[in-house]
Amino acid sequence: MNWTGWRHGGYAAGLPENVRIFDTTLRDGEQAPGFSMNPDEKLRLALELEALGVDVLEAGFPIASAGDFEGVERIARACQSVRVAALARATPGDIRRAAEALRPAARPLLHVFMATSDIHLHHKFHKTRAQVLEEVPAMVALGRSLVAEVEFSAEDATRTDPEYLVAVLDAAVAAGATTLNIPDTVGFTVPQEYAALIAHLRSRVRGADHIIFSVHCHDDLGLAVANSLAALAAGARQIECAINGIGERAGNAALEEIAVALHVRQEMFPYTTNIVLEKLHATSQLLTEITGVAVQPNKAIVGRNAFAHEAGIHQDGMLKSPLTYEIMTPRTVGRGEHEMVLGKHSGRHALQVRLAHLGYQFDTTQMQAVYERFIVLADRRKVIDDNDLHRIARDLAATPAAVS
Ligand SMILES: [Zn+2]
Repeated sequence: MNWTGWRHGGYAAGLPENVRIFDTTLRDGEQAPGFSMNPDEKLRLALELEALGVDVLEAGFPIASAGDFEGVERIARACQSVRVAALARATPGDIRRAAEALRPAARPLLHVFMATSDIHLHHKFHKTRAQVLEEVPAMVALGRSLVAEVEFSAEDATRTDPEYLVAVLDAAVAAGATTLNIPDTVGFTVPQEYAALIAHLRSRVRGADHIIFSVHCHDDLGLAVANSLAALAAGARQIECAINGIGERAGNAALEEIAVALHVRQEMFPYTTNIVLEKLHATSQLLTEITGVAVQPNKAIVGRNAFAHEAGIHQDGMLKSPLTYEIMTPRTVGRGEHEMVLGKHSGRHALQVRLAHLGYQFDTTQMQAVYERFIVLADRRKVIDDNDLHRIARDLAATPAAVS
């Protein structure tokens, strides 16, 4: 990979450098097993997402249930500064229902989707390519007659014949779609391939310069964030993503990872977002609280261990300078201090610092004795807490050689 080419090769002059963050926590995320939310919970999270600075808030799929309709309508009424989106299949019933739910919105966006891959056409719809090519513009036009802004998604785009995809997207644009979403619905693509697809579409779809190309990646191969970021260099300017990476199956691209990657690696990604990074942790926590589903401890940015250090070498480095093992501070994303976890991998340096913090000073010989006791205990237990340290320190202080 030629990094200079990667950095400067893809995006054309004149494109906006701001990347639109389209949050789908409340739609794709909420669809995942164990993540369903009632309208009250959705509204609470929506207000938090609006404060977080997302540009588009996909509030639900109104045709799916009365609860989904209510959730979208209440969010549309309450969230007046953010674009509120509602999902609809490319059918008149779905589109009318979604438009109705969006009626109170200050900035409504109708998200119409239709699958375009032969696999979906044959196995799901029993439709021909020609039928889909007729229905998409008709449904986009219906959407535009009801809602000011329409996004069209070609479901399973990454497994669609690219030439046919151009034809469908051309038809959607001609009918009034102003955002074209190119979803990797099944989490199948890889960064180079996805970037090439986006570049192909941007060069071939008529009127592409006036269209926002959007990406929507699933994490089945663990590549959702990498694929989303790769698409930026090829001209994508909207990323669909979800807090904590929740979504169908392995989930969507994680919003917090996208926002922080763009921030930490600005020299690689010269784009801005409107995300308030300091609110990321609290938003993640609120989602966890509402759904009762915790994130894995080692999850980037928001996991319990994302800023924890246990290994002795790492702790020693961190105590000398956080630059040694941290590419961002916990405060960047609204967390407290980084955490030094004391366990069997920890070294003397971190132990000594922690003991000093608790009010104990030992000379070198005493410290060796403390350390030996600590390691014996740590071998049996996963984590050693302050109470354990007080016990060890007091035991030693009780022996004649020790001072505290
Ligand atoms: Zn999805």
